[in-house]
Amino acid sequence: MILVTGGAGFIGANFVLDWIAQVGEPVVTLDKLTYAGNRANLASLEGDSRHTFVQGDITDAALLDQLLAKHSPRAIVHFAAESHVDRSIHGPEDFIQTNVIGTFRLLEAARSYWNGLEEDRKTDFRFLHVSTDEVYGSLAPQAPAFTEQHPYEPNSPYSASKAASDHLVRAWFHTYGLPVLTTNCSNNYGPLHFPEKLIPLVITNALAGKPLPIYGDGQQIRDWLFVKDHCSGIRRVLEAGQLGETYNIGGHNEMANIDIVKRICALLDELRPRTDGQSYAQQITFVKDRPGHDRRYAIDASRMQGELGWKPAETFDSGIRKTVQWYLDNTAWVENVQSGAYREWVQKQYA
Ligand code: NAD
Repeated sequence: MILVTGGAGFIGANFVLDWIAQVGEPVVTLDKLTYAGNRANLASLEGDSRHTFVQGDITDAALLDQLLAKHSPRAIVHFAAESHVDRSIHGPEDFIQTNVIGTFRLLEAARSYWNGLEEDRKTDFRFLHVSTDEVYGSLAPQAPAFTEQHPYEPNSPYSASKAASDHLVRAWFHTYGLPVLTTNCSNNYGPLHFPEKLIPLVITNALAGKPLPIYGDGQQIRDWLFVKDHCSGIRRVLEAGQLGETYNIGGHNEMANIDIVKRICALLDELRPRTDGQSYAQQITFVKDRPGHDRRYAIDASRMQGELGWKPAETFDSGIRKTVQWYLDNTAWVENVQSGAYREWVQKQYA
């Protein structure tokens, strides 16, 4: 049994679905169901005795103690976070609450639970903290990609809150001996991605005939990884990572935002042509850049490959095709997540 926090979100849900399909070991998912959490992401597990869903907050210490005592997991995989940079600029408070205080509470609950385990279970226990490459800050155009030794230089409230959580996790290993592992991953894309982030936003806006907003000059470079490859990387680290260590996970796919958007438009032109025969690229609109927008992130994932034998299964071309096709095939999911709280937020942003 493992406990997964944030398992109703984008990466967490992909992880839980893949874990149950491929490992078969039971999972307890703890998720607050913020605007980003969606029970429908785990709908295919309804009635499956290997999955238990608990709605709750990782800042709730009593709930964490109770869940750990009741389910006695052999590992915690911690995805729960506020994850959207734009939201962190408009309202950083939730990011500090969940990403910093929440991780602290989870570490404390894990420590107390782990201290009470019998020796053999204590040795096997793992706390895997899922983090981001954004903690390393912005990379100059020709600089080598981020290794695990790169200094932390977070620039947004989101990345600063994740950096703080990474440091807490590290300290709980060095101070208390809690068996932790941390992964820092590049930008994910794939099925179940909430349409506030670049790739699903572009796909859904294109199909809805809306503008495709690009920040600044669109030359911001990100390294992209198909979400299923991130999930396989986390499984590998959980299985074979060295305690207290950090692993960078990335896809060796550096691309400028504008090129990503053009690639998606070309795929949509092929798979679902516009009725007027024009390209979706006509809908591209440049908007004012985000404050403090990092120019480039790039991950050096050679440690994952060299030490743990992991590498991504998808290229960007194969992964983005699967992603666009998934959004074309799952319009009901898109409509569902675009209702309610999300719609209100979008209206406020673009009013
Ligand atoms: P997401 O926003 O899609 O999902 C986050 C989930 O956490 C949601 O289901 C939400 O309901 C839940 N949650 C939020 N606050 C909570 C709380 N207080 N208690 C319990 N649950 C809570 O995020 P994501 O993109 O799936 O990212 C998951 C993790 O991976 C995050 O820690 C993020 O920093 C990290 N990460 C994301 C990316 C990326 O490209 N998306 C890349 C690297 C690392």
